[in-house]
Amino acid sequence: MSGMKHHPLEKIVFTAEDVRQYTYCPRIIYFRYVMNVNMPPRTYKMEKGIEKHEKDVRNFKSPPESSPQKYANIYLKDERVGLIALLDFLEVDGDEAIPIDLKTGKRYQEPISDHHFAQLVAQALLVEACMGQIVRRVRVDYTRLKKVLERQVDVDDKFRVLRDLERMQEIVETEIIPSPTNIEGKCTDCEFWRYCLRV
Ligand code: SF4
Repeated sequence: MSGMKHHPLEKIVFTAEDVRQYTYCPRIIYFRYVMNVNMPPRTYKMEKGIEKHEKDVRNFKSPPESSPQKYANIYLKDERVGLIALLDFLEVDGDEAIPIDLKTGKRYQEPISDHHFAQLVAQALLVEACMGQIVRRVRVDYTRLKKVLERQVDVDDKFRVLRDLERMQEIVETEIIPSPTNIEGKCTDCEFWRYCLRV
């Protein structure tokens, strides 16, 4: 997605990952979409983590008679909502669906962080727009640690992500850099620090 110049009137289709980054710090959207800063190269450790993650999702098969049904690698896009995402898993039980994010790392964060939650709410919006299922909760499955975290999603959460998508669009259209995050500690782990410096 990054690295492209956008026509001022063209509505951007953001990824659910972009929503996660915007929630972490709105400035990241500016660096990715206005300055076209590409993500820093992945380290060997990150590559291995991604390979393991992809293998776990690819090898997954839901038993045919199992209930609820679980589907892996669900690619969803809705231009009206302005979102695209690849869901690790989607559990479907009647009219309810639960997006599930798979984590293969050794550390986990409880409760689910706000930025990770926002990414899952973006996936929820896509499920509702593309499939007509209702999403009332989302999960993060730490496979290696055998730990599953769940968080309820309400209408306010969905409206908040829709509003965030509008603000993200505005950042790209106006090319105005947002203020740095109030939580300075976040900058320590930020891949965009050398472009930002909080100035
Ligand atoms: S360095 Fe800090 S203020 Fe700058 S983009 Fe990253 S998190 Fe935001």
